[in-house]
Amino acid sequence: MKIFLDGQLVDEKDAVVSVFDHGLLYGDGVFEGTRIYDGNIAFLKEHLDRLFESAKVLMIDIGMTKEELIQATVDTCKANGLENGYIRHVVTRGAGTLGLNPYLCKKASVIIIAASIKLYPQEMYDNGMKIITAGTIRNMSEALNPRVKSLNYLNNIMAKIEAINAGVMECLMLNPQGYVAEASGDNVFVVKGNKLTTPPTWCGALEGITREKVMDLAREMGMEVEETVMSRYEIWTADEVFLTGTAAEVIAVIELDKRPIGNGKPGPITNKLIEAYRKLVVSDGVRIG
Ligand code: PMP
Repeated sequence: MKIFLDGQLVDEKDAVVSVFDHGLLYGDGVFEGTRIYDGNIAFLKEHLDRLFESAKVLMIDIGMTKEELIQATVDTCKANGLENGYIRHVVTRGAGTLGLNPYLCKKASVIIIAASIKLYPQEMYDNGMKIITAGTIRNMSEALNPRVKSLNYLNNIMAKIEAINAGVMECLMLNPQGYVAEASGDNVFVVKGNKLTTPPTWCGALEGITREKVMDLAREMGMEVEETVMSRYEIWTADEVFLTGTAAEVIAVIELDKRPIGNGKPGPITNKLIEAYRKLVVSDGVRIG
């Protein structure tokens, strides 16, 4: 496998960073997860916009323009003959000293990995997934804003551990006020009648790219779409619930905390959105040509 590392495509075995890189020492960096479908890098510009915004908040100078990163992403896919898969962009603060001071790190490292992806089993797309509410609260926005897609995912990992220990693959995370934020690696949506709702980002959600696209698709389908503060009550009593994310795409949730959602099966709106989303990902984005 060829990896893009600091301006060059190198062999996987040569794609290494310093043990003094603050990405390793402190989780000081940002990342993106993007998918390529039949040679189309879905929503690449939107992902890179978010990467640059995350980097700006943390005052990390990526050292490349968006256009250069688009080209580097295309080149990395081509070098690996990748037409379908998962692309990971990582920008670390770079090598510095053992102290926290980010200003002593000379140059950010930019990494692009074009690889395959392991999805949830097909059975889960057909039948939906059961989830629990994690006891781990989503990071408080004023401490570390969940809109920053940083290399420090310990908050999400703590919640994911709870999910796996409970025998499920995902979990709901609440914010410090007890309202719904998102799942450990996905956004969450509620369908009730003709209305689709999702928590606003200020409730502690990442501004998911899939989330934005699904809201657009639902509007096109004639649904009323609203970002609204919600508690678990709205989820337990919903007609349908689903999660969205680049890796998961759109997937039905059929149970939260042992309460079946709706009739306990993926609902018609969720299935329609899954279908519409799968059409969109092959056309909206940057083609590798
Ligand atoms: N929330 C979190 C915490 C995530 O890590 C992700 C991405 N895996 C999402 C939501 C979904 O975002 P996107 O649709 O941009 O992949």
